[in-house]
Amino acid sequence: MGKPLRVLLVEDSKDDAELLLRALARDGYEPVCSRVETAPAMRSALADGEWDVVLSDYHMPRFSADLALEILRESGRDLPFIILSGVVRAEDVVLLLKSGAHDFLNKDSLARLVPAIEREMREADTRRRRRSAEHLVRLLSVAVEQSPVSVAVTDREGRISYVNPKFEQVSGYSLAEIEGKLFTFLASEQVGEQMLRTLWSTIESGREWRGEFCNRRKDGQIFWEYATVAPLKDQAGALSHFVVVKEDITTRRAYEEKLLRQANYDEVTTLPNRLLMLDRLQQSIVLAHRYARQTAVLHVDLDRFKTVNDIFGHGAGDELLRVAAERLTGSVHEADTVARVGGDEFVIILPGVSSGRAAEKVAHRVLEAFGKPFQIHDQEMFVTASLGITLAPTDGDNPQVLLRNADLAMGQAKEHGRNQFRFFTSGINQRVQERLQIETALRGALGRGELLIHYQPIVALDSGRVKAIEALLRWQRADGELLPPAQFIPIAEDTGLIVPIGEWVLASVCAELRRLDAFGDHALRVAVNVSPRQMRTGDFVTVVERVLTETGLDPARLELELTESILMDASSDSVHTFQRLNDLGVRLSIDDFGTGYSSLSYLQRYPFDTLKIDRSFICEVESNAHSTRLVETIIAMAHGLELEVIAEGVETVAQMNMIRDRDCDLAQGYHISRPVSSERLEAYLLEKSGE
Ligand code: C2E
Ligand code: MG
Ligand code: MG
Repeated sequence: MGKPLRVLLVEDSKDDAELLLRALARDGYEPVCSRVETAPAMRSALADGEWDVVLSDYHMPRFSADLALEILRESGRDLPFIILSGVVRAEDVVLLLKSGAHDFLNKDSLARLVPAIEREMREADTRRRRRSAEHLVRLLSVAVEQSPVSVAVTDREGRISYVNPKFEQVSGYSLAEIEGKLFTFLASEQVGEQMLRTLWSTIESGREWRGEFCNRRKDGQIFWEYATVAPLKDQAGALSHFVVVKEDITTRRAYEEKLLRQANYDEVTTLPNRLLMLDRLQQSIVLAHRYARQTAVLHVDLDRFKTVNDIFGHGAGDELLRVAAERLTGSVHEADTVARVGGDEFVIILPGVSSGRAAEKVAHRVLEAFGKPFQIHDQEMFVTASLGITLAPTDGDNPQVLLRNADLAMGQAKEHGRNQFRFFTSGINQRVQERLQIETALRGALGRGELLIHYQPIVALDSGRVKAIEALLRWQRADGELLPPAQFIPIAEDTGLIVPIGEWVLASVCAELRRLDAFGDHALRVAVNVSPRQMRTGDFVTVVERVLTETGLDPARLELELTESILMDASSDSVHTFQRLNDLGVRLSIDDFGTGYSSLSYLQRYPFDTLKIDRSFICEVESNAHSTRLVETIIAMAHGLELEVIAEGVETVAQMNMIRDRDCDLAQGYHISRPVSSERLEAYLLEKSGE
């Protein structure tokens, strides 16, 4: 079977056409042929069919090779055009070849026909390929010109020979300014030497490099790009150029950095947060171990931060934290870490110290820094700090243990009066263990009936009659030991156990008073101590109301003793609670007056009925004239505010006389009676009423 060949034949003679086709068939072709002899016929043949070659007679009655060539040009097709003719003048042939014919053959010697057709077809094919390649190049260069990513092409040394408009726009440099520079010239200081070395060695070895680049614009601004640098090779396979394609990732980087910041830093103070602190602590423990040094961990807690927050609002609280953070940072060296790990809690890490001395110095500096008043929103306030210090590896070698130790030591500093620091010691640990044991035992104490109440009489100074009794809690432990409240009330407060215990005290006391009615004065009052923690539970007033209803006790006979601290943290909530209790008809008493910071004017704002002067002033009246005057003033002012005054801790006749002379209303103390069990109280009251 012959090779297919589509021939458009421009020929008026059928015989000549026959001869031609036969010649092609002889050379192994199986031509498909269409013969045209006019211009319109040729036009429609070109428009409708696909051809491999045009073979044209030179001269025809109604047509000519000249015209046929023109029609082919018009059609836009690039087909081999070969003229077949008899004798023609040489000049005419040249003219035709100049105007686009590819070859000229004599009709009488067709031996050259097939080689000529084949050659011309090959060349036409080459021309077609080149055209489409050129088209592609044009397309590519437009694509690069208009590309939304930066593109640079460099020579084999990496010197810029081309950059696209996007590159110019992003970098701020025009091609003219940067031609011949190394393409890495934009890299900012943030791009390390190491990274550049890897980049060059990768691309010089003919491999592609990808990575993130931190660059600097012409105007100095920093921007991030994700770059791909690819080596280009010539036809022989030798490295000839590099092409650099870069995508602006500044937005993504900014977002990532923000996320990273949020994950590792505290928003209010911009200090590292707990997460980052743990990381740094872990690192410094490892390093300290390697260099046989120690790591100091300081736990810093602001004293009474909550009060500031409650009274002045969160805005002021945040401002205070920021200033506190500055003062802490100012107290340490640059290599140290100051982190905010909770509400008002900070941790300082001193890596690589040789002893506790360094930590002690920092602690002193912190205390000193907090000795100055804070100026917050036009308000001057004093907020001190308490610190706990622990050392690794002496006190522990993992972050959790160290942080717990520092926290415990900080707790000690608070317990000892705040505004100081304490080192963690094994003693602290032991105390914590004991506390834990007490806590466990206390949880079951109420259920096992180990709690009891003692009563201490309070007498009128004018008549000597028992006007009231104060209920004081005791814990009779299983081993028979009688624990005073100081040893377990703070734990009960910390754990919240004070709430059910307090409720039990209240109910027992009211019931007891009703029982005592059988023996004496029906106007006898009972004073019950209430801890701030109880007051803060939402339904305290409801509990009081219920107990009064259940026992049928006249509310005026119940007095609730509150310490001054409750006035210090007085939020609008507790003011509301005071008011509701007052509305119930219950009496309110301020206990241990003079030990806190409240002034008498504070009391004016709250519905108090009674003021109890703290024992510490009474016991000094004999020896200290200042205390006597103080007591005198308190009594006078309290009376001015229509408060009844009780002197606590009266132990001697002299003290009794002194307060009586100063017009104090009531007295309580060992001189009158120690706190006693309810049976002993019963006897006491009977004896008194008999007097
Ligand atoms: P407080 O309310 O100031 O109670 C008076 C304390 O002074 C009692 O100590 C009492 O025994 C003691 N005291 C009375 N007269 C004298 C005296 O002449 N000399 C001396 N040196 N001390 C005297 P207690 O019973 O150990 O109670 C201590 C504190 O425990 C109480 O101080 C009160 O704040 C708290 N507390 C007692 N019972 C309860 C309770 O049921 N609930 C709550 N939340 N706290 C309670
Ligand atoms: Mg009391
Ligand atoms: Mg008291």
